[in-house]
Amino acid sequence: MLDLTVIPATNAADLPAAPLRLRHWIGGAWVDSADGATSERRSPAHGVAVSVAAKGGRAEAEAAIAAARNAFDTGAWPKTSGKERATFLLKVADLIDRDRAKIARQEVLESGKPIAQAMAEIEGAADIWRYAAALARTQSGESHNSLGPDMLGLVLKEPIGVVSLITPWNFPFLIISQKLPFALAAGCTAVVKPSELTPGTTVMLGELLEEAGLPPGVCNIVLGYGDPVGEVLSTDARVDMVSFTGSTGVGKRITAAASATLKKVSLELGGKNPQVIFADADLDQAADAIAFGVYFNAGECCNSGSRIIVHEDVAAKLVDKIVALSRKVPFGDPLDPRTQVGAIISPEHLDKIDGYVRGAVAAGARVALGGAALPVGGLGAQFYQPTIVTDVRPEMAIAREEVFGPVLSVLTFRTADEAIALANDAAYGLSAGVWSRDVSTCLDFMRRVRAGTIWTNTWMDGFAELPFGGFKESGQGRELGRYGLEEFLEVKTVQMRIDQTRGAWVA
Ligand code: NAD
Repeated sequence: MLDLTVIPATNAADLPAAPLRLRHWIGGAWVDSADGATSERRSPAHGVAVSVAAKGGRAEAEAAIAAARNAFDTGAWPKTSGKERATFLLKVADLIDRDRAKIARQEVLESGKPIAQAMAEIEGAADIWRYAAALARTQSGESHNSLGPDMLGLVLKEPIGVVSLITPWNFPFLIISQKLPFALAAGCTAVVKPSELTPGTTVMLGELLEEAGLPPGVCNIVLGYGDPVGEVLSTDARVDMVSFTGSTGVGKRITAAASATLKKVSLELGGKNPQVIFADADLDQAADAIAFGVYFNAGECCNSGSRIIVHEDVAAKLVDKIVALSRKVPFGDPLDPRTQVGAIISPEHLDKIDGYVRGAVAAGARVALGGAALPVGGLGAQFYQPTIVTDVRPEMAIAREEVFGPVLSVLTFRTADEAIALANDAAYGLSAGVWSRDVSTCLDFMRRVRAGTIWTNTWMDGFAELPFGGFKESGQGRELGRYGLEEFLEVKTVQMRIDQTRGAWVA
């Protein structure tokens, strides 16, 4: 008998009677693939079919790009005022709020995440649409009035053009909401490709955009796989920019593919995020935040705090506290509102998570808790136990690579320099955290650790106002904050001679 908190299957009557039928949205029309191809998604927790999506090919991707190009080059959207764009984005936010429960439920069924968390994510997404609406009215450049009496220099910000927005499966609605409202606020037109595993809520968003009155072709959605849809969206010369969130490997492939036409590429990639816990830290606060950081979204999270580096004097005490908390976290049926950790996205991914744990044990690490699939009454075995691996050494794969599961690696240190060196010892640089009551210790860490976000005495707070993105192989560019809008803007310099004062060049 496992001493864990497990929520068994809820009422089977809650499951959908029929899967949601999903189509592409191209040039304002909802269409199937020309060859009729589809792909089915089964709920990772419940095993039943929850969506059947049109499976796009090259033809659908190219048609969507043509529609977006036409809407940008000849349509009204890029010429609308900031006020008009803001009014539209606010309307979408209200519609998201109206349909929050429906969207959250589909997100749960396709991704396996818990319903309470999905509800919070959809609420957060609506907030981002409102924040982008506020930014839409701030788009402005510079003026230069000291270039001579008859000259005026202007630096204008213009929409970059047609953007491809490619998203992953772990936060489908939230991540498209970190891209699309900013692209629309800038005046861009878009082709969106959600993950083949979680297309449902992106299609629901398209329906809301249509209801809010977005002109045809301004936003298009193509469903399908990286090959060929994602590849066409990254290579077609009619696309001006690719904004991608996903794995570092695919991010590198997209960068190479986009280089032939020198598109701008913005990348939000993986992480192997360290938290350093000094001996003077509040260990109770740290233990709770560490549990949150590693189990949130079943650890399938770019920001997963999956690597802790703890002072050796307090390591045993802290691990005991995390083990005790881990036993209390409710894992199980994601449709039950009590559940805090749901299912793993696919059986293949579950095997990958387990492989990292077994590999670490074979290399000399020790499992302090978990380390195996989790049986949940009435549901299949696509769950993984809360897992804590101690005696991890920095060279082990579990300490260097994204496990993307509910698995914590524990490393130890003696001196601050050693801790900071360990924190920086990764190809990634997405986020990092420090726990200490001494503000100078926190400040030193914050200055010396190379990561896009640093948390001090907290983990994974998030605000639409603050930019998010990675150093090193965690990405390039930023989302959210005012940078979220800047990413989708191009700079145009204007030099205006006011009078006919230009000196002749030819004598
Ligand atoms: P993935 O890279 O496998 O897929 C992401 C998207 O890219 C999907 O839509 C996929 O169909 C598409 N794709 C696949 N091959 C492609 C290609 N050759 N060209 C164009 N598109 C292609 O990632 P995933 O497994 O869906 O998501 C998990 C990864 O995403 C993790 O590495 C995680 O850290 C990362 N992630 C990062 C952030 C962030 O903000 N930094 C947020 C969430 C997830």
